Amino acid sequence: MLSKLIRRNQSSSVVFIQQCMRSSVLNPSRTNDEIRFDSITTAYGYKSKYELYRGWAVFKLCSYTSLVNRLTQLLNISRTILGRSVFESIMRSTLYGHFVAGTDKSELKPIVERLSQHGVKLILDYSMESDVATDHLVTTAQSNHSIYDENLLKSLKNVQTASELSGSSAITAIKFTAFISPDVLQKLNQAVEQHPSDQQSLFELASKSSLISKHELIEIEHFIQRINRIVQEVKQHQGRVFIDAEQSYFQTAIHKLVLELQELYNRDRIIVYNTYQCYRKITLKTIQNDLARAKTKGFSIGFKLVRGAYMDQERKRAVELNTNDPIHPNFAATTQCYHQAFKEILKDAKNHPNQFHVFVASHNEDTVKFALRTMDEMNVKRNDGLVAFATLFGMCDYLTFPLAAVGYDAYKLAPYGPIDRLLPYLTRRAQENRAIFAKAEKDRQLHYKALRERN
Ligand SMILES: Cc1cc2nc3c(=O)[nH]c(=O)nc-3n(C[C@H](O)[C@H](O)[C@H](O)COP(=O)(O)OP(=O)(O)OC[C@H]3O[C@@H](n4cnc5c(N)ncnc54)[C@H](O)[C@@H]3O)c2cc1C
Repeated sequence: MLSKLIRRNQSSSVVFIQQCMRSSVLNPSRTNDEIRFDSITTAYGYKSKYELYRGWAVFKLCSYTSLVNRLTQLLNISRTILGRSVFESIMRSTLYGHFVAGTDKSELKPIVERLSQHGVKLILDYSMESDVATDHLVTTAQSNHSIYDENLLKSLKNVQTASELSGSSAITAIKFTAFISPDVLQKLNQAVEQHPSDQQSLFELASKSSLISKHELIEIEHFIQRINRIVQEVKQHQGRVFIDAEQSYFQTAIHKLVLELQELYNRDRIIVYNTYQCYRKITLKTIQNDLARAKTKGFSIGFKLVRGAYMDQERKRAVELNTNDPIHPNFAATTQCYHQAFKEILKDAKNHPNQFHVFVASHNEDTVKFALRTMDEMNVKRNDGLVAFATLFGMCDYLTFPLAAVGYDAYKLAPYGPIDRLLPYLTRRAQENRAIFAKAEKDRQLHYKALRERN
């Protein structure tokens, strides 16, 4: 019954998309001031009626705080009581269906094609991550390297899939915590923080540190080899890779390794992107240092600017350990850091052609408008290849699609993979949409408006 409904509505979606294309939704002659971030035709033209209904229902569900707070328990209980196949079909009709692009290449392909008709590209993220406190399964398996080697194979496959689906615009995203035990990564982080050095590599620092055992050093060596193997695969497929930023107790080591990779691989073009969390007090200084280092040493940097996803956890940890809170005191300070960082990167990108590129990875409409205004002020054109925009799959299409429609480089970051693997990600998405209710509310209302127009 459900699958019939999906099929019927997907075919009506195709007709609708064709109508939209005929009425020339793509309009590159619009000025930045004329871009409308409330156009339901542009934002949701690619969605079927069923998908619009599902989107509306998901945002409605996310607005019930008590439900979202207990989501992890609810999902676990439902899976046990309902059994795998019923649970999966409910997930496909709700959270998973809305926020995840599919399980494999065959499910991703039609989505890539539909989005590309609207000028929007997909960044593929085969979901894998772990954390010291939460991922007990991975932590206890730390002596067993096979899980990280398995993740390496999945990542290589992800790079190949992205290349097959998107060709030279292929981008994949990875998290380093999928390739090393979180405990060892945390120790490595401490080692780098104890003896910060631009002259010594991450491995050299680790090998001299009294914090790292011989066994752990071997694990670190394998970790660095795995990451290099992934970047080589990306290079071979002429793609690009985003390295995600994670918790601050990993991030100093992550950042150091990404810079080393950039120095090695970002020579003829940008392959490796680093992520900068603007909620951290040190971020603006870090960006300024990285820009200076790249200019001195002659390598390129891809910047992905985000606000940061682990704020509650970081603050709680700072209180527990009685250390300084690494996060800006308020949202306005984070935003100021984001906007200042964007300005400084753009200035250098303009003055040093082909050396710097920046992704505005944000759902914040004011930040997107700020970026557009700054580009106008600095006389940077949308097709100069200096700036791109990205939002998460299932969120804020009302930003991404209008940008793509006027010729900006616009992307959706799409997680994919088996349902079980994505449950933690889905809980985070629901929680984020609860936290940023005003934005989710706009998404919900626009879904509703689009649905009404289709009737
Ligand atoms: C393409 C893409 C890639 C991403 N990759 C990463 C990644 O690698 N690592 C990562 O950590 N995150 C990543 N994120 C998530 C991102 O960091 C944010 O959590 C998310 O996008 C919400 O921020 P926003 O800019 O979209 O805007 P908004 O929705 O306006 O941000 C609102 C949020 O800002 C938070 N906030 C930030 N600083 C403060 C503060 N000082 N005081 C109070 N509230 C504050 C609030 O919690 C609130 O929920 C990514 C996001 C996107 C779109």
